[in-house]
Amino acid sequence: MDRRLFLAGGAAALAAAALPAGATPPSQRSGPHTPGWHRVRIGDVEVTALLDGAMQGNNAFIQNFFPDSTPEELAPLRERAFFVEQGLHQPVGAYLLNTGRNLVMIDCGGHASFIPTTGRTLESLRASGYAPEQVDTVLLTHIHPEHALGLSFDGRTRNFPNAEVVVSDADHAFWTDPAMESRVPQGPRFIEAARRAIAPYTDRIRRFPHNREVEVLPGIVSMPAPGHTPGHVSFRITSQNQSMLIWGDIAHQTVIQLARPRWRVGVDVDRDAGVESRVRTLTFLAEERMLTGGVHVPWPGFGRVIRDGEGFAWVQRPLQFT
Ligand SMILES: [Zn+2]
Repeated sequence: MDRRLFLAGGAAALAAAALPAGATPPSQRSGPHTPGWHRVRIGDVEVTALLDGAMQGNNAFIQNFFPDSTPEELAPLRERAFFVEQGLHQPVGAYLLNTGRNLVMIDCGGHASFIPTTGRTLESLRASGYAPEQVDTVLLTHIHPEHALGLSFDGRTRNFPNAEVVVSDADHAFWTDPAMESRVPQGPRFIEAARRAIAPYTDRIRRFPHNREVEVLPGIVSMPAPGHTPGHVSFRITSQNQSMLIWGDIAHQTVIQLARPRWRVGVDVDRDAGVESRVRTLTFLAEERMLTGGVHVPWPGFGRVIRDGEGFAWVQRPLQFT
């Protein structure tokens, strides 16, 4: 490395001047730097985690997110969860399934118009070797902005022009029925985003019952998880005696919510139902030792739930390239 190149620039020269002779100055690069996709196989099904971006909850938001907690109870869990001065960071992801007969998205990320640091799912999808035009089905866990705005950024253009959108009947009704508007905890901004996301797909939306398991596509079964929203679901993929579950928002924050699964969530439409869905899902996953993914689990999006004391814990799947 030619040190004169560094010494030519003002800021770089200052950084280099503090280093001992022969040392390499820190990179000046910042911003997105994680490869945007990671792939595993479940039997014959290829499952690709796609990075959409990240979001941040500030300190007041986090405290309000867990109305059953005291600051004293929350403090050690925040510290364990890599608390930073501004709050907590959370990844946002989505999943692409190639079942051999269908190419399927489970959720599809957000958009910078809603959360500035989200909206990279299409870029990650292309980087993984596929095109949005090839996707035939988009399964939605629920119609929150960072899960659904990837469908359409402007409310007119279909980002997945050949896809059918599959969502539970209760979630679709919740976000489209004017009589439900007063029940949305986050208010008009979320309602506008939900309607914008699905607007260009009006004639190609398939609704399934939210209150029982439904095989929505061959090998993919919905599992009811109401509470966060009325029609919130997880999806279970099974092939060749292997299974994986992908959740939407059973936990937004794996460190805190798996340790305290009975803390209600302030933004849930039905907080008690949300607790019941979380405990039931985590218990199932721990008993089955099932590979698990979720829209806000640690990147690159694959792990397992284990029992840990009175609660649960997330164990990240070791990174593999096979
Ligand atoms: Zn979410």
